[in-house]
Amino acid sequence: MRALQVLDSRKLAVVDLPEPPPPGPGEVQIRIGAVALNHIDVWGWRGMAFAKRKLPIVVGVEAAGEIAAVGAGVTTFRVGDPVVMYGALTCGVCKACREGRDNLCEEVKGILGFHVDGFARDLINCEARLVVPVPAGVSMRDAACAPIAFSTVEHMLFDNAKLQPGETILVHAGGSGIGTVAIKMAKAIGCTVITTVGDDAKVEKAKALGADHVINYRTDRFEGVTRKLTAKKGVDVVFEHTGAETFPGSLLVLKRGGRLVTCGATSGPTVTFNLMQLFQQQYKIFGSFGASLRNIRDSLAKMAGGLTPVIDMEVPLADFARGLERIESRQVFGKIIVNF
Ligand SMILES: [Zn+2]
Repeated sequence: MRALQVLDSRKLAVVDLPEPPPPGPGEVQIRIGAVALNHIDVWGWRGMAFAKRKLPIVVGVEAAGEIAAVGAGVTTFRVGDPVVMYGALTCGVCKACREGRDNLCEEVKGILGFHVDGFARDLINCEARLVVPVPAGVSMRDAACAPIAFSTVEHMLFDNAKLQPGETILVHAGGSGIGTVAIKMAKAIGCTVITTVGDDAKVEKAKALGADHVINYRTDRFEGVTRKLTAKKGVDVVFEHTGAETFPGSLLVLKRGGRLVTCGATSGPTVTFNLMQLFQQQYKIFGSFGASLRNIRDSLAKMAGGLTPVIDMEVPLADFARGLERIESRQVFGKIIVNF
């Protein structure tokens, strides 16, 4: 079967690997249909010295497929069912897993496509408990954006920041995969959305998604514009993932008691901020990573209800690196899909 491996820093190759054995008890075998790209794929492709892993490794963190075979004891899936898979090997028995907070697993064995072999291959065996059915009406392409992009945003906005209808939110990098999802999810519950983009062509695209105010951060300072737009009050929530370049400014534009939620540091991991400001303004800062299986089910339900992902482009397996370059160079607007 085909698989896409990272061999070394920035070096990918389509290779021929043996097919997996028939699924064992409690497992299903899945034929992959589409892989969606995320910034974590860029980190993995560039090489991360601190990530414990052995190369070569099969890439692909987020994917959708259909059931190809069912192991003993699995009654919830049948051959042909469309499914998505959880992106990490959680233990299923620790307190966090038992409570459905899978992304806080105490014995996690790694993220697929990053620490251990991922989804960019024709066939994979997965534990059935980490597989989620795709509802009718959701395409393979769209479903591939549920396990990471959609569910990460769902977890950030609703479990962590507790975003409420009518609130005002600043979404950084509104053209990114998760940025486009955050705009759509916040608008869907009636929030006012301010977002930033890096070029004028993306301004219209972000407005078309429903963003109320779009700031080109290369020509305007988002801090000043946001304070002006909110009559100096600031926003209720900031959706952060850009990190060092924006984080101090993100705190500045929060209203007293406002919430900042972050899941990334694409422009750098280290910042300085004022603790006096933190406690006097009573800010709440949430670090968010991954999502629960419930978040994936809720994301797919939103897709079935019409809240679909923005697709930047679709490429064949051999062009995986072209997609990563497009994310790295910030040209992307929405999600990039790799088709099988
Ligand atoms: Zn666990």
